[in-house]
Amino acid sequence: MNNVVWLKRDLRISDNEALSKSVANNASPYVIYIFNPAQLSWPDVDIRHWTFIFQSLNDLRNQGLVVNTFYGDPLDVFDSIKQQIGEFNLLSHQESGTEDSWRVDNEIKKWTKKNKITWQEFQNNAVIRGIKNRNHWDAMWIKKIKSPLYQSPETYIFKSLNTGDFKIPDHILEQIFNSNHHMIPGGESKAHNLLKTFLAEKVDEYWGSLSYPEKSRYYCSFLSAHISYGNISLKQIYQACEIERKNKSNKKSIDQYMARLKWHCHFIQKFEMDTSIQYQNMNASFDHIRKKSDRKLFKAWRDGQTGYPLIDAAMRCVKETGYLNFRLRSTVVSFLTHILWQPWKPGADHLAKMFLDYEPGIHYPQFQMQAATTGVHTIRIYNPIKQSLEKDKDATFIKTWVPELANLSTEFIHRPWQMTPLEEGMNDFVYGKDYPKRIVDFEQRQKFAREKLWAIKQSPQSRNRSIDILKKHSRSKRV
Ligand SMILES: Cc1cc2nc3c(=O)[nH]c(=O)nc-3n(C[C@H](O)[C@H](O)[C@H](O)COP(=O)(O)OP(=O)(O)OC[C@H]3O[C@@H](n4cnc5c(N)ncnc54)[C@H](O)[C@@H]3O)c2cc1C
Repeated sequence: MNNVVWLKRDLRISDNEALSKSVANNASPYVIYIFNPAQLSWPDVDIRHWTFIFQSLNDLRNQGLVVNTFYGDPLDVFDSIKQQIGEFNLLSHQESGTEDSWRVDNEIKKWTKKNKITWQEFQNNAVIRGIKNRNHWDAMWIKKIKSPLYQSPETYIFKSLNTGDFKIPDHILEQIFNSNHHMIPGGESKAHNLLKTFLAEKVDEYWGSLSYPEKSRYYCSFLSAHISYGNISLKQIYQACEIERKNKSNKKSIDQYMARLKWHCHFIQKFEMDTSIQYQNMNASFDHIRKKSDRKLFKAWRDGQTGYPLIDAAMRCVKETGYLNFRLRSTVVSFLTHILWQPWKPGADHLAKMFLDYEPGIHYPQFQMQAATTGVHTIRIYNPIKQSLEKDKDATFIKTWVPELANLSTEFIHRPWQMTPLEEGMNDFVYGKDYPKRIVDFEQRQKFAREKLWAIKQSPQSRNRSIDILKKHSRSKRV
């Protein structure tokens, strides 16, 4: 019987359970990837993600793997494969995706049943399918992450399929090639190079640099997009860290890094168990607030025109580079939802498209956490002026992304509204013309948001709902 490996968010050869098992008993499998055109109309998918995938597939080909690439409805693709090779076993990794991606998987599940095809789905990283609570989750996570790596199936021949009816159209190829010149390229070999450099040269500075816009771009691992598309497995990263950790006298920074590898699965596990987090407040007590969208405010935030330099720099930067560090992500979400008092969903969809590392299972739960709609976490309202004074002291980050402020003296770059007319004249700068005036008053809005959110959070109704959320998603019963 033929084996078909359906690559999804596991674009690697090493430690790939589906690939490894597909060559058992000297079988020679077909490896496929499907670009589903419907995805481009989903609210969270951008062509920049496809570019990263395309680069990752090229990297696999350069390593000698035959990847059959299809562009089309997955049902039509599987019909065509069946016509070409008859019955087959389908192997892939589980995907903790949005309801759109579950719908596709469910259609394929029905198709496999109808066509008497077995579909084996393997665990993705250490996210567990089918659990109802987090009892013993920590123990299961550590067991999985320390388990032996799957062997690479390098010595087997991989077979070609006819993909002629499913070619990627030229206009899509053009967009793929032109999409992300300022973003990191995808690929398994790139991921391993990044990990090697990170562990050899950067990890000790990681913890102290994490929240600084500029330093984080050098000292963070920058592996998130590679992890999201499976260019590298979390097991590979964790096990490489364990080896490196033995050489460290000060283990604090590497431990912080390794903790985040667990957070990765912790967040995705929430989404695996509840996909409504993509569109519904986790705590319904927050349902009656922020109902009205203001197009002008949203547009100013999206386009980096709010008049708050750090927010504008971050929003322009993510559009070009697909990346922000954790603190900046939290700060822009806090600004949109608390200070501009806008509903979180359109902002979450916009940033899903912008983040090259977009991972629904981290993105939407994190977004709700920062928007304070879980009722469980501390409400954090980031002050963008304080953040920029502390974390971008010499304004290097702001100068890069908001060039219209670059020639001002540093104190005014953080707060251009403090310039007197005389200083504006001396700097050849007109506040409100060369750079937008602040669209809202931060202090006033912060006070409003804080009072409103805390009142809801402390209500008995919200507390009861929070208890239910904790029962389902908290890792309190640790082993
Ligand atoms: C609103 C919001 C949305 C986010 N959306 C995403 C997303 O779509 N995809 C994504 O990978 N991360 C997301 N994050 C988490 C985090 O910001 C990024 O993982 C991190 O900035 C990526 O950079 P890095 O690879 O250099 O991370 P490093 O700091 O080097 O960390 C290594 C890895 O650990 C994991 N990790 C790190 N921080 C977190 C975290 N706070 N929560 C969960 N996992 C973490 C990631 O897989 C990351 O690649 C989001 C955070 C916020 C506040």
